[in-house]
Amino acid sequence: MSISENIGKIKKTIKTDTILVVVSKKQSNENILAAYQSGQRNFGENQVQELVKKEKDLPKDIKWHMIGHLQRNKVKYIASFIHLIHSIDSINLLIEVDKRAKQNHRIIDCLLQVHIAEEENKFGFEIHEVSKILEKSYMLPNVNIVGLMGMATFSQDQLKIQSEFARLSRLFIKIKNNQIKILSMGMSGDYKLAIKQGSNMIRVGSSIFGKRN
Ligand SMILES: *Cc1c(COP(=O)(O)O)cnc(C)c1O
Repeated sequence: MSISENIGKIKKTIKTDTILVVVSKKQSNENILAAYQSGQRNFGENQVQELVKKEKDLPKDIKWHMIGHLQRNKVKYIASFIHLIHSIDSINLLIEVDKRAKQNHRIIDCLLQVHIAEEENKFGFEIHEVSKILEKSYMLPNVNIVGLMGMATFSQDQLKIQSEFARLSRLFIKIKNNQIKILSMGMSGDYKLAIKQGSNMIRVGSSIFGKRN
């Protein structure tokens, strides 16, 4: 199936108000343009260098999402254009984003990444830390926390994945308000489960483009 057919298939299974972020890491400009031409505008990358190059080369109305671990010293390269940072995992990173947003006369939308997986190697705040981080974020005028992001354990165990998504969803429901509206969870392997648990933003790569090298 073609890239646009794959996108069509996914769009059919999600609600119209669920945002599909097409994860374009390691994809050629040609592949990205195929998705763009089928109407997609939200694209996600996980490496700053790759993201900066693609932003230069590709259409200017693309909304770029940073979905991977972000180092503080690299925020400056994306601050002028980034649409949404999904991967805020420390207060110091948030302070740096605020500083660079200010230099660019912008307010940058961010999600707090929450650690819900069993695996130690996934980044993010613990659930109990989130309210404190939110409070601190109100002191930073050039960042807006607009929601939460989480990744489930990489596993075949549907019940486990479902319960991890449910934990994040419960937290989201608790803190949700006029500004906090986005729950980013679900990838190729688990976006259907994520949507059942209340996700309204999914990040999908390999189901659209095929397996990455
Ligand atoms: C790569 C990646 C995705 C997409 O993964 P697929 O399994 O290819 O859909 C989603 N979220 C994050 C944070 C990623 O790094």
